[in-house]
This record gives sequence, structure tokens and C-alpha cells, in this order.
Amino acid sequence: MKRALLVSGFLTAALSGCGITPLPGVVAVKASPASPSPSAAAFVPVYETPENKDLAAAENLLRENRLVQRWAEAANQGFVPPRNVSVTARQCDEINAFYNSEDPSITMCYEMADYLRKLFATPEKGVPKPDAKEADESALGAMSGIYFHELGHALIDLYDLPATGREEDAVDQLSALVLITTAEKQKDYSQIISTIETWGRISQEEAKLPLDQRDFADDHSLSRQRYYNMMCYLYGSNHNAFLPLVSEGELPVARAARCEEEYAKMSRAWTRLLEPHLRTDLPSPSPSTARPS
Ligand SMILES: [Zn+2]
Repeated sequence: MKRALLVSGFLTAALSGCGITPLPGVVAVKASPASPSPSAAAFVPVYETPENKDLAAAENLLRENRLVQRWAEAANQGFVPPRNVSVTARQCDEINAFYNSEDPSITMCYEMADYLRKLFATPEKGVPKPDAKEADESALGAMSGIYFHELGHALIDLYDLPATGREEDAVDQLSALVLITTAEKQKDYSQIISTIETWGRISQEEAKLPLDQRDFADDHSLSRQRYYNMMCYLYGSNHNAFLPLVSEGELPVARAARCEEEYAKMSRAWTRLLEPHLRTDLPSPSPSTARPS
């Protein structure tokens, strides 16, 4: 079974269906230092070379920042999976990212990185045009947000974790939790902010088109809802630091009033679900990732 990231509205057509046959040019990257032992299963970083030359910049961005290695290492610091799980950056011929449970693998499509680079390079009304480096950094942060969403699908599958709500919402919560706790440690909130901005920008594009019943029937929340959910978790994690989200009118007061409790509840739920599966043989067992340079 394949669990994908996205999305309602205008991207839906572009995101349906994706073959999982390995493409030529597969490069497995050496096991990360957090890999438990050469014989134990692990999250294994893999880069494939895209045939589409238009994706070269996206490929270079991920490779130069060692993003796939960092993602795999973050997972390996927390878990020894029951089977090897590849974390693969590759051409998918669609803008997407997904987890495939049959041959356990997390696929991060170069098309998604390419899409995000262009999304963040597009100037917003009343804001100076971002330079290419800023746009790339935002794209990297958003890609990490997407990766932890997919890692959530992987963990639910590998450890048969229970969830009573929609899985897509649950793994958005895990992504927010990892990004926020990492930000607190590193005093750098750029990844969670890029993730929130991504949902904000995608939902602005979607707002140009009418919603139809497929959008409401989808197992993903609407992009605008994902935008507010992520913002609510950030605000709920530290309402003093993020008060401007409410005082400047971005997060409605009625939702904000519940965010501290929402964040604490989902944090407690994920911690309780994952605790029995966390590695105990490393000094710092909690999953975290370094900010891409
Ligand atoms: Zn998903």
C-alpha cells in the first residue's frame, strides 16, 4: 500500500499514480554513522540520477546538502526498523512524495523539490523578491517537513501503530512535532516555518479554482486546513514566542485558544506510541535532524 503526501485541488491531477520501478542510475549512499550495525536493518539513503535534465538543479540541491543522508540518519537515530527502509530521492514524473509498504521505502521526488524551489522563488505581494539561495533554503526546509510526514507513514506501518483519526492528519502532526522539537534544540525554526508557508502558498493557488466533492472526500485535509493545523501546533508549542501569529491576525483567536492543549495532546500521543520502539543504545534516542546548511 502506498501512502502519499498530497494534496487536494489543483495538484491532484498531477499527483495521481506513480510507478515504483527503480530507475537506472541508482546510487546507494554509505550507511550513516547512526546505523546500528552492518547486519541490522536501517533507513538507507539512496540517490537516483534523473533522466530529465530539468531536474538536475533539484537533484544537486538535495545532494549538496546531503539531505537524504541527514533524513536517513535522523530516522536511524530514533529507530532500528524491522526491515531495511530505503529513503530514495528520484525522478517520479509527478510532484509527490510517498511511502510504499510493500518494499518499504520512502520516496522523495525530485519534482517535488523542483516545484518547491520555484514556489519559494515566486515573489509574494508586498514582499521583496527572495534571492535564489533563500528560495532553495526554504525548499529544503519544506522538503524536510514532507519527509517527516512520510516517515510517519513508515513508522505507523512498520510498528503497526494505532490511530483513530485520519492517518494523513496524524503524520502531519508527527512532522510538526519533529520539526518543532528540532527547532527548539537548534534555536532555528526555519524548517517548520517553510512547511507552514508551503501549505499557505499551495492553498492560495488552490483558492483560484473551485473545490469539488473529491477535495472534501480526500483522505488529506484541505491545504488551508493543513496550513492552520501546522501553525496551531507551532503556536501551541510556545504561545509567548509565537503570539504575533494571533495578534497580527494570521491564526484566528478561536483556534489559537485550543492550540496549547492540541499540541500537548498530540505530542503526548506520539511520544507514547513511539516510546516502545525507540532505540535505547544511543545517548540521544529522540529523532532529530540537522538543519540543511
Ligand atoms: Zn501522507
